[in-house]
This record gives sequence, C-alpha cells and structure tokens, in this order.
Amino acid sequence: MSNSEATTDMGSTTAITTQTETGLYIDAKALTAHLPALSYRDEALHIEDVSIKAVAEQYQTPCYVYSKQAILEVYKAYSDSFASVEHQICYAVKANSNLAVLGILAQAGAGFDIVSRGELMRVLAAGGQANRVVYSGVGKTYEDIEFALNQGISCFNVESISELSLINKVAAQLDKSAPISLRVNPDVDAKTHPYISTGLKDNKFGIAHEQALAVYEQAATMPNIEIIGIDCHIGSQLTEVAPFVAALDKIIELVHALADKGITLQHIDLGGGLGVRYIDESPVSIDEFAAALLPKLTQLDLKVFFEPGRSMVANAGVLLTRVDVLKPTEHKNFAIVDAAMNDLIRPALYQAEMAVIPSTLSSHGIETKDSQAWDIVGAICETGDFLAKDRLLALRAGDILAITGAGAYGFTMSSNYNSRPRASEVMVSGESHQLVRKRETIAELYANESLWQAE
Ligand SMILES: *Cc1c(COP(=O)(O)O)cnc(C)c1O
Repeated sequence: MSNSEATTDMGSTTAITTQTETGLYIDAKALTAHLPALSYRDEALHIEDVSIKAVAEQYQTPCYVYSKQAILEVYKAYSDSFASVEHQICYAVKANSNLAVLGILAQAGAGFDIVSRGELMRVLAAGGQANRVVYSGVGKTYEDIEFALNQGISCFNVESISELSLINKVAAQLDKSAPISLRVNPDVDAKTHPYISTGLKDNKFGIAHEQALAVYEQAATMPNIEIIGIDCHIGSQLTEVAPFVAALDKIIELVHALADKGITLQHIDLGGGLGVRYIDESPVSIDEFAAALLPKLTQLDLKVFFEPGRSMVANAGVLLTRVDVLKPTEHKNFAIVDAAMNDLIRPALYQAEMAVIPSTLSSHGIETKDSQAWDIVGAICETGDFLAKDRLLALRAGDILAITGAGAYGFTMSSNYNSRPRASEVMVSGESHQLVRKRETIAELYANESLWQAE
C-alpha cells in the first residue's frame, strides 16, 4: 500500500488516498476536510448546511449542486490577495455559465472573460456589466464583434492579425473605437495536460512572442483600434507558480519594448489557469500565487486583470448520481450510475481523476469487508464512458454518490449524447437551496427537429 498524506486544517496528518493492489481508496472525511463546501455531519454528507441525500430526493439525479459561499470565498481570496494593485477579476464563464453562478459573481463585483456571443448574452442576462467583460477566443465573427461593440465590452483579447483587421472594420462601420489587447503566446510550458496547455509555440492560441511587437505596431496604425492592454493565458490546472512567473517576465519585457515604441498600455491580463485540488494534488494557493507575482506587478503601474475559471468554481460543486446496477464480472466490477460521460466528460476527455464519495459514511471504509474495487460507469454505449476507475467503495444499488470538484467544466461540457436530457442544477447557500436549472425533458431534445416532408 502507498499513502498520500496531506495536512488537515487541524494540523494533523491524514491519509487521503491509499492505493491497494485492487484499487484506490479515498478517505471521504479526510478529502472533505480540504473542500470548503462539503462536510460529513453524523455520517451524512452536507453541502453547506444542506444534506446531499435531501437534495437528491427533492431534485432527483443526476444533479449538479453548487455552494454560493464557496464561490464567493474564492472570489474574495483573489480580490484580497491582489488588493495592493488595481485589478479586475474576470471570471472565465466557460467553466460554469449557469445564470445563478454568474449573477452571484456579478453582484460581488466580478468582471467576466467570455469566448462567445452566447456567453456575453448570459453575462448580461445575469446582471453583469459589459464594461467589465473581456472577450477572448480565436474565432470571433463579424456578428460577434458587432454585438460586443454595441454592448460596450471593455476589451477584445485579439489572437491574430486577421482578427485585428476584422475588429477594425466592424468598429469603423459602427463609427466606434474598439479597445483591444493582444493575446501573446509566451512559449512557456504550463506542464499540464496537453489538451489544456495553451502557451506553447505549437498551440493554436495567441500571437507568437517574437511577432507581438510588429503586430502591436500594425494595430497602432488602424484608425478604429484603441490599444489598451496585453494578455496571455498559458493553460489550465497549473499546479506550480513558476510557469506563471515565466510568462509574466516575458510579458513585462514586451510592455517595456512597447513603451520604447511609444505604445503605452493601461492593463496587463494574466489569464486564468490556476489549478485546484481534485484529490491529493497540491496546487499553489491563491496567496502564494499573489506573493510570487505582486513584486513584479506593483512595479508596473498597470491595472491587472485575471481570468480564473476552474479555481473559482471547481470545488464549489458536486455531481450527484445514483447507483442503478451493480455488475461484478470476472475481471472487473462495474457500478452503473445514472450520470454518464455526457454529464461529466472530464474523466473520458482528459483522463481526469475525480473523487467519488458516498452520501452516507456508514459501511464505508477501507477495512470494511463490503469494500470492493469498482469502475463507476455510465449507461452510454462507449467504453470511454467512465467517471472513475478502480475505486474501493462499499456500494449498494440505490446509493447516492457525490463526484467532487465538479463545479468547473462539468455541466458546461455536458451534451445530449444517447438522447440523454442534461442534468438539473441546484444552488445552495446556508440552509437554502434552489433549482437554478430545470432538468431537460426528453421531448425538449427533439422539439426543434422535424420529419422529412419535402416530397
Ligand atoms: C479557459 C480560459 C480561462 C480559464 O481557465 P481556467 O483554467 O479555468 O482558470 C481563462 N482565459 C482564457 C482565454 C481561457 O480560454
């Protein structure tokens, strides 16, 4: 057996995971000691002051449940940690775009990082202010740009010369000036999963560091472009601070080189990407992140933007699912649950390891004779349809399980594959809970379709 140890808030050391010959045991109580929203009370899992079992009974499963306080705590940690510099936290909407999440953050004063017109419309519908929105993404269309300009967004993060020309053209036609920053690709290795690494030369993102000066000079000649900033975003689920510092150094070099050419900026945008603890990772804390960057940022005298997504919401959410069928086979035991890869694709797409914990602790434990290694799988016709593999759990049909860390890139990446309605979403605050997205009905899935009638 090998243990992974982590220090709990009480200062004692508890093994969160134990790897045995058959599978991975996750000590649910030790895990939840690190998750602000979750706790076991009398063996019953709670999110804030609401019992998970009660949520599952009232709203059915599969169901995403989010903690309002957990979201606000992270937002506050970012704004407190960077209090010594003028800053704007622009929450990356793609991590979780539920209107309730956006509304809570808008009320707290957050800005938003969007990658589509749809996300901008969500932000506005949730009460967010366009003048606190930055617009990222490699493929903005004429209509996207027109809509964003008319709404008065604060900045386009531009990723190519052709995008720059298009923005200039749309702005000219609207008789407006378009505020822009260039997304520079600093060519640093974020040391994360290749699908979520975006700051290397061969990624599709950003403008190469070596070309940035020339593109800025070109932008400066465009009559309807107003250069206001510089931007980078090097990847997601970064657990170390060094790549952020390396990227910042490269951006600062450019800021000075631009100043020498007479191009002065108002802000520097460091993107998102801070990692979270899913099981026993130890990502840098927001405090440590700030401590590493602030000495450099305070010297710059520029407003600082951040675009955190995952770190704002991942651990504010769980996906609840019910065990429907237990299917032991000669080689493997499968627990077929009512959530599947269409609800949560991270394990299938990124080989992400997410914790699966019981809603009731009794009979759960590594010594329990009922504990066996299970693959937690959905009912979709794909071998890739798994949520977790080889987990030591004591399971019975009907059990409610919680998949933790599901607040980010969970619901937003869900689909209707296999004609499965997407899950419901619930927001919790203290003892209050509210359905913030109704479960889709099956009829809704084909409501926009029609039979072939043309001949
Ligand atoms: C996805 C994305 C983010 C958010 O990344 P996280 O890893 O979720 O913090 C921020 N900025 C841009 C441009 C993105 O594409």
